[in-house]
Amino acid sequence: MARRPFIAGNWKMYKGPAEADTLAMALRRALVDVGAVDVAVAPPFVSLAVVGARLKHSGVHLAAQDLHPAAEGAFTGAVSGEMLKQAGCAYVIVGHSERRALFGEDDALVNQKVLAALRAGLLPILCVGETLAERDAGQERAVVTRQLEAGLRGVPADQLPSLTIAYEPVWAIGTGRSASPAQAQELHATIRAWLGAQYPAFVGASLRIQYGGSVKPANAAALLSQPDIDGALVGGASLDADDFFAIIRAAGGRPATAL
Ligand code: PEP
Repeated sequence: MARRPFIAGNWKMYKGPAEADTLAMALRRALVDVGAVDVAVAPPFVSLAVVGARLKHSGVHLAAQDLHPAAEGAFTGAVSGEMLKQAGCAYVIVGHSERRALFGEDDALVNQKVLAALRAGLLPILCVGETLAERDAGQERAVVTRQLEAGLRGVPADQLPSLTIAYEPVWAIGTGRSASPAQAQELHATIRAWLGAQYPAFVGASLRIQYGGSVKPANAAALLSQPDIDGALVGGASLDADDFFAIIRAAGGRPATAL
């Protein structure tokens, strides 16, 4: 089964509404046609509205970087999936390693967030990945399969193809040191084999697995040409419209001049 490439930009805590509008405008100019690639950007919560308005009908989807598991309630500072849906989000990133490491999110909370995203009608991008210490100890496969098993608990098989898994080795995020295409492919194949063993065959065949960790225009084509790498979750390079578009092009997107 052919899987449509999916490139998502995680803007992290960069780009308040004014700067986000400028970046979205630059993206809109670059991305006249994203071709056969699904594209999403995840600005900070406060910039969702302005980016959503600017990218309306552009083919670029809106994503959020996190959600609270509850639909509403006395949770000061939190935002629910239902609210994100109302704000125009199609996707939500769940379990990013920065949320796990800096905000204390464990596998159980990540699982609640995955279920909450699906309840709200959002498409979760579930992040998994090992730390450098875990890789040095040869634990990368065990860590990733544990995160998958816990993160996907209770998700019905027929809903799984609407999820995206982002394999993001922690040692490659924001470090400029990407996994090699072979290293990434090896873990993506492990993830797909694990899915194949746990669920009906259509799940492993159709669920998209993005790679994340220092993806740049210079390494995108080599990573994206691997058979089990279906796209990229891009941090730093998604803050530059030209770099982000170069990565989309490496995934099969067409430049405006090809129209
Ligand atoms: C990320 O934040 O998910 C990420 C992969 O960041 P970077 O591309 O900057 O490594």
